[in-house]
Amino acid sequence: MRRVFLPYSSLCLLLSALSPMNCPICKKPLPEPLGEQPFFPFCSERCKLVDLGRWLDGKYQIPVTPPADEDEQN
Ligand SMILES: [Zn+2]
Repeated sequence: MRRVFLPYSSLCLLLSALSPMNCPICKKPLPEPLGEQPFFPFCSERCKLVDLGRWLDGKYQIPVTPPADEDEQN
């Protein structure tokens, strides 16, 4: 059985077919057709750079903390 791995942009394209997509940075609706957007899934090069900057700043890093032991005794 073969697995098909989609690039992230393709995944976004599929999701956009289900619901209208906005730029994840500035929340503006993306112009159609999405598949021809050079900066997809962003609306512009500026937003793409903003996203890249966030990655570099480490803001997207997931804090690695062990799950707290919660005693749910009701
Ligand atoms: Zn944008």
